[in-house]
Amino acid sequence: QHRLCQRINPIRLVSTVRSTVPNNTHNVLISSTRVEPTTGQGPLAGSTYICKDNIVTKVGFTTSASKSLENYKSPFNATVVSLLAQAGSKLIGKSNLDEFGMGSSNTNSHFGPTMNPVYPDQRVPGGSSGGSAAAVAAGLADFSLGTDTGGSVRLPASYCSVIGFKPSYGRISRWGVVPYAQTLDTVGIISKSLNVVRKVFSVLDVYDEKDPTSLPQNIRNEFKPSTCKQLTVGIPSEFVLDELSPETRAAWSQALTKLQEAGHNIKPISIKSITKSLPAYYTLATAEAASNLSRYDGVRYGYNNNNQHTKDAMNLIVSNRSESLGPEVQRRIILGNYTLSSDSGDHYLKATKVRQELVEEFSSLFKTKHALVETASGDCDLMISPTSIGEAPTVEEFLNADNANFLNSYVNDILTVPASLAGIPAISIPFGKLGIQLMGQFGDDELVLQVAETLQ
Ligand code: GLN
Repeated sequence: QHRLCQRINPIRLVSTVRSTVPNNTHNVLISSTRVEPTTGQGPLAGSTYICKDNIVTKVGFTTSASKSLENYKSPFNATVVSLLAQAGSKLIGKSNLDEFGMGSSNTNSHFGPTMNPVYPDQRVPGGSSGGSAAAVAAGLADFSLGTDTGGSVRLPASYCSVIGFKPSYGRISRWGVVPYAQTLDTVGIISKSLNVVRKVFSVLDVYDEKDPTSLPQNIRNEFKPSTCKQLTVGIPSEFVLDELSPETRAAWSQALTKLQEAGHNIKPISIKSITKSLPAYYTLATAEAASNLSRYDGVRYGYNNNNQHTKDAMNLIVSNRSESLGPEVQRRIILGNYTLSSDSGDHYLKATKVRQELVEEFSSLFKTKHALVETASGDCDLMISPTSIGEAPTVEEFLNADNANFLNSYVNDILTVPASLAGIPAISIPFGKLGIQLMGQFGDDELVLQVAETLQ
């Protein structure tokens, strides 16, 4: 049935009313939703948005782009969805993604890949929030929600020439977000307009008692945006990679010129542990994913093949999981379970130490103090790097590299993962057909958003 649906229309229709999803030429949406009633008032009144399909909504299904959840209906709304409804924004669709947020190209979806609407040839939109970025790029909504664990809002924003903002860890509630790696998961905002990103952030940036990692009010009170006019922006030398494309280098130098013209100082810096961030990230993320995804066994959650002949519980679970989780998700479960097993030599703990070093190293270079960690202070207000190594590759190029070695896909995250591990705010601003990333001290989200304006 799924294949048939794909041939006629490359979308699995999961709206409670199974009608055609409009304007879905790039397979951006998994479903369109009947418009949720909103107050019709509030700071976002009149706006429309699209929500990544790993954020639960009462309307329609929440699939995480996985066969294991293709019929999952949430009995409740995620906190972010409730807050947006209260603020007057209308949810008009659920967007495609890499299954459970695992990927950087949106080619790992049970519902087929999303295409990048910026290019006439078939290019990836980036992932995992590829549908969310493509939806905004195609003009389907004023903004979209994505999730960013290691770059999944910023990389697609860069590939689709839109703005993608990942706030500090803990500022936006994750109640109702299907967990991938919960020590890293954040909800992010994608739009063409920085003003819209700022407005949406101010609606979502509130303490939520339902999310144990939501930052309490007393810590939020300590976040004070800098009033200094002349800022120091650090360039970590570890981001100056040989692999950066000529277009990326050109965009980066344009961005630096803009900052200098606005009166800011540029300063080369070094953050040694950035070089260890990819292995640390893929150790932590896969371990947490393996643990989180153990619930999709067809008994507690997820696809059940109703195999009457399987008497043995283990075989039942194995067949349910093998039939309903995609190859990349299975790979990560295997990697993660290995990491968590006693044979692996404490990989998880070692990766945790690398993360701690990275948090401290980043923090010690920023002028403002970290609200949670005691470190020395430096003189940087912000840091800057490209978001991606180059422009969006074609689907063919991406898949060829991935087939040659799956680690090639993981390398796409090299510029975004450090800010995720450090838990700091980061935004990707479009420069031509790729993005430039600004990062700030933990809690300095407002400063990041404010200076992003200079880069437009
Ligand atoms: N590409 C990274 C991964 O697959 C990031 C994903 C994300 O941020 N959700 O883990």
